[in-house]
Amino acid sequence: RGSRAKAPARTEMLSFEQIGGQERAKRELVEALDFLVNKEEIARLGIRPMKGILLTGPPGTGKTLLAKAAAQYTDSVFLAASGSEFVEMYVGVGASRVRDLFSDARKKATKAGKSAAVIFIDEIDVIGGKRDGGQQREYDQTLNQLLTEMDGIHTTDTPRILLMAATNRKEMLDPALLRPGRFDRHIGVDLPDVKGRLHILHIHAKNKPVESEQLLERAAAETFGFSGAQLESVMNEAAIYAMREHSESIGRSHLTMAIDKVMMGEKTDRETTQ
Ligand code: ATP
Repeated sequence: RGSRAKAPARTEMLSFEQIGGQERAKRELVEALDFLVNKEEIARLGIRPMKGILLTGPPGTGKTLLAKAAAQYTDSVFLAASGSEFVEMYVGVGASRVRDLFSDARKKATKAGKSAAVIFIDEIDVIGGKRDGGQQREYDQTLNQLLTEMDGIHTTDTPRILLMAATNRKEMLDPALLRPGRFDRHIGVDLPDVKGRLHILHIHAKNKPVESEQLLERAAAETFGFSGAQLESVMNEAAIYAMREHSESIGRSHLTMAIDKVMMGEKTDRETTQ
């Protein structure tokens, strides 16, 4: 294996309109980003720069989408990595991957002629878990490197770096990461409510022939507890059922079967991992 952090190739643009529900999370994020771009004001008032935004919440709720949209909103390049990519057998490799990720972000932004880069680290708890007194030297070095990189971020830098990270286990994070000047802005990304579910279903039904609007409303009502990722699966599975029946459009029975399948799939996954 090479010693460089995997270069993330996910560069497609995404706007906040393509994220269903999550109105509060979107609002809070836009507020934070608006604050960030206001460089002169921040400097004039001597406000401590915001370096990290932590997105917390269950899997599949759109945290990665929010980070991508943040990059688009701030006209930044986007780099993504997952905490597990930094975990290596050899001490020091994880730390050098962190260093590479930040230098890659700066290089990529400069090359693209952008003044900022958004770095998104999913599953931050894998490297940012609570340190336990020398038991996990490798993790310690990686986390220390991340803290060092964060401390080296300045609002006046060009290109400017905004670090975003996601976790569904905030309570597991090392307090050093949550200190002022580090990840001091937290945004909760929860499972969508019925209105959010309908919005998400609409987004994923855009390129699909669905018999009627009422079917989506009914599906939204019947998918309590589903994440955005599961709702995307529902629409996809429903389309597959419709295709199997050579149906012109997606009907009630296809959606019902798809909802059952996604619900059952989740159950089976959970049973096998317990
Ligand atoms: P994880 O923590 O498991 O990485 P996540 O919260 O980052 O999950 P995403 O990767 O953003 O979740 O979402 C996975 C997929 O689910 C998206 O690519 C999209 O298709 C769908 N999805 C999730 N949430 C939404 C949403 N709010 N609106 C529209 N689509 C969504």
